[in-house]
Amino acid sequence: MGIDVGVRSFILLVEEPSAREVRLRQVLEDAGYTVRCVPASSESLPLSDEAQLVVLALGPPGGAGRELLPRLAQQEASGEGAPLLVIVPEEEPEVMRAALRLGVEAMCQPVDEQELLARLERCLLVRERRQQIGARVATLERLSITDGLTQVHNHRYFQERLREEFRRAQRYDDPLSLILLDLDHFKDFNDEHGHLVGDAVLRDVAAAIQRSVRETDLLARYGGEEFAILLPRTPLAGALTVAERVWRELNALRSGPDGSLLVTASLGVSGFPHHAINSPEQLVRTADQALYRAKGEGRNRICLQDWPLLATPAR
Ligand code: GH3
Ligand code: MG
Ligand code: MG
Repeated sequence: MGIDVGVRSFILLVEEPSAREVRLRQVLEDAGYTVRCVPASSESLPLSDEAQLVVLALGPPGGAGRELLPRLAQQEASGEGAPLLVIVPEEEPEVMRAALRLGVEAMCQPVDEQELLARLERCLLVRERRQQIGARVATLERLSITDGLTQVHNHRYFQERLREEFRRAQRYDDPLSLILLDLDHFKDFNDEHGHLVGDAVLRDVAAAIQRSVRETDLLARYGGEEFAILLPRTPLAGALTVAERVWRELNALRSGPDGSLLVTASLGVSGFPHHAINSPEQLVRTADQALYRAKGEGRNRICLQDWPLLATPAR
């Protein structure tokens, strides 16, 4: 695989520009690089963020570039700085060893020009591969917390965030609420319309719920046809308002292949602080009990922890 150097620029950090560096610059420019030559000092450090490559050409022993070396190497390792190639005077093998230990590409002065170009290409190649791996990791991370069918968060991520948010709520005395939502008679719905239509409806339902909550709220698919909405910094009264909005949105939803199918849902709401809630599990259990009550009282409604049945909100 060839590396296109034509569009890449890079910085040449030089301690004491000499005829050698002038030659070096020429070689690089002939190879298609745009070269920027700056003195090796700590002020030049931020420039490595903007560069595609950094060549540090060390001057006579004792120069400031030796201090710069670990800092540039650190920037490269963190992914913030550009790949680094250091050119070390022949009489300083210890600096060469240090550079290698830092994971930096290094060459001995005097440099073989063709080898230098090949090594710079290698630096770019390694960087490109790292970026590809980084992008893959990011994709996998996203997939690992996402429900494949509905594209909202999955159960595992919900559990993680629930624990985190509960800890935070306890520590800062913040309210935290939870809504559990379960579609009504969804088994019958599947039996009547088919599983694939059921799947499409689940996707529409997830999107409808997502529209009804804030960005700071966490929507997750809790199970088959169940969803959980975690509402940080939201007291029970606020969670009820959100539950009503979700309920209304679902009532207005027309789904299925010809946009005519209706679904309803039952919702259970619980909130911390509450005398009976001392753990994330208890927050879930109380919401689940409220949901169970909503089912028992006839479905298509919202129930709050400890509260008697709420009348079905007016449409
Ligand atoms: P209830 O009102 O008591 O909640 O009744 P229900 O039929 O919704 O509840 P039940 O727990 O008996 O059945 C849940 C149904 O949800 C069964 C299953 O067919 C359906 N379901 C669960 N996951 C999926 C899914 O991924 N796709 C589809 N299409 N249906 C699903
Ligand atoms: Mg269910
Ligand atoms: Mg159900």
